[in-house]
Amino acid sequence: NGSARQEPSPLFTVNSPNVVYTPDEIKSHYAYHTTEVTRSADNQLVATPKSSNYNFKVDRKVGKVGMMLVGWGGNNGSTVTAGILANRRGLSWETREGKQAANYYGSVVMSSTVKLGTDAKTSEEINIPFHDMLPMVHPNDLAIGGWDISSLNLAESMDRAQVLEPTLKNLVRKEMVEMKPLPSIYYPDFIASNQEDRADNVVEGTKASWAHVEKVQKDIRHSEFKAQNGLDKVVVMWTANTERYADIIPGVNDTADNLINSIKTGHEEVAPSTVFAIASILENAPFINGSPQNTLVPGAREFAEQRKAFIGGDDFKSGQTKMKSALVDFLINAGIKLTSIASYNHLGNNDGKNLSSQKQFRSKEISKSNVVDDMVAANSILYEKDEHPDHTVVIKYMPAVGDNKRALDEYYAEIFMGGHQTISLFNICEDSLLASPLIIDLVVLAEMMTRVSWKEDAEGAEYKGFHSVLSVLSYMLKAPMTPPGTPVVNALGKQRSALINIFRACVGLQPESDMTLEHKLL
Ligand code: NAD
Repeated sequence: NGSARQEPSPLFTVNSPNVVYTPDEIKSHYAYHTTEVTRSADNQLVATPKSSNYNFKVDRKVGKVGMMLVGWGGNNGSTVTAGILANRRGLSWETREGKQAANYYGSVVMSSTVKLGTDAKTSEEINIPFHDMLPMVHPNDLAIGGWDISSLNLAESMDRAQVLEPTLKNLVRKEMVEMKPLPSIYYPDFIASNQEDRADNVVEGTKASWAHVEKVQKDIRHSEFKAQNGLDKVVVMWTANTERYADIIPGVNDTADNLINSIKTGHEEVAPSTVFAIASILENAPFINGSPQNTLVPGAREFAEQRKAFIGGDDFKSGQTKMKSALVDFLINAGIKLTSIASYNHLGNNDGKNLSSQKQFRSKEISKSNVVDDMVAANSILYEKDEHPDHTVVIKYMPAVGDNKRALDEYYAEIFMGGHQTISLFNICEDSLLASPLIIDLVVLAEMMTRVSWKEDAEGAEYKGFHSVLSVLSYMLKAPMTPPGTPVVNALGKQRSALINIFRACVGLQPESDMTLEHKLL
């Protein structure tokens, strides 16, 4: 039973009157410092330091967590599964470059460190694994399951994906043969018609129905998967094909009630991914959309808010866009005027095949297009209001290169006195090997957020969860969803700082400001 599990002791404890540890909880009292800006009558900016007090509470009992992937038999699904099995068993295998051991490279949670503070004696920085910031599930302990419209078992899917070394595949094959995706729901209109020949594991019905919602709910709740693994919690992730956009139609999917009604009446603008989202929300299982389409239509978002369930999206930020959200942040913050970005891709995996269809490509084009907006809008010296760099995204299907996507980017910028800087990038993104660790991070972080609550520092205030829309997952997502009316942050550095500093706040530590005054005021 999950709740009886012994949780490991933390790597560090916080020594502060504002932080209390009990066997079950970490409670902190936290002063959040911000700067409020107003304009005086003569239009002068006035900055006023503000402080708000919050109480955070972290449930230390992680329990047993399951990850259910929609599109489990795809390149990402099979790769992340083999990767977790290999790590769990501490495998190593021969490659032509020598022995390779399992690792979690590319996972912020598992393979990056954060500065905890400065050594009291030596004044050296003490850096700790991100995973040790708070009590988080270890990916090796995740139970894995899911759905696919293709009936291949996970060993066959892994072969079809052509991602992993044969020597590694041989070591995990026996276990993966036993893993079979649950039948899924398939509405042919939403994914490319070239996917039809793999759809041999589908439940009856080609448009939304409440029976489909209930089937998915049952899979999450009653499945052998959950019972067999003694799970306390399940996180559901869409890593299935990119769907076309659903039209947002008043009366159909604009509110929670309308969307629920549209599912019940089988409206053709309800996507399979939205049905999965609604079922997950009903089961209070965090749902994350790893693909670009607008799964989380306004009605789905409202439904999540009403039920205080967590949702996150959209579209894994793995290769080209991750580079873009770091590079553009650097250029514009260096005072260099980026004037155009041309992004070409060619790829040969099934994702590329699906994206060779116009409507599905359009979903990807949209999610890739807005990723520099916030950085451009923040600099009124380089850009006039509403001025943007030119930005083009092209994707072509080229079967021969398989999962090794080629991303070619040209960044063209204006520098001092009318000069130009041209940066040309050729990025070979081993697609599923970049996306798999993101899936792990999203699951670990989303689960973590189910155990964090906060309350205002006022008489009678009650603990509650963060907003349903988990914008704290932005680092891993190309087109991050944020709570309605709040700004989208795309800059990679800012996204990481937000994540780390929120986790620091949960244990009563101030944000890491990188001021290091202790080294400067000697
Ligand atoms: P894939 O085509 O190999 O896998 C998708 C799987 O989903 C297939 O096995 C397919 O049979 C299944 N599927 C389709 N519709 C389904 C449904 N209704 N229910 C259940 N299963 C269904 O693709 P992939 O390379 O694994 O990528 C998955 C998704 O992640 C794509 O949408 C892709 O755009 C997105 N994505 C991938 C990356 C990356 O790999 N680096 C980055 C960003 C986004």
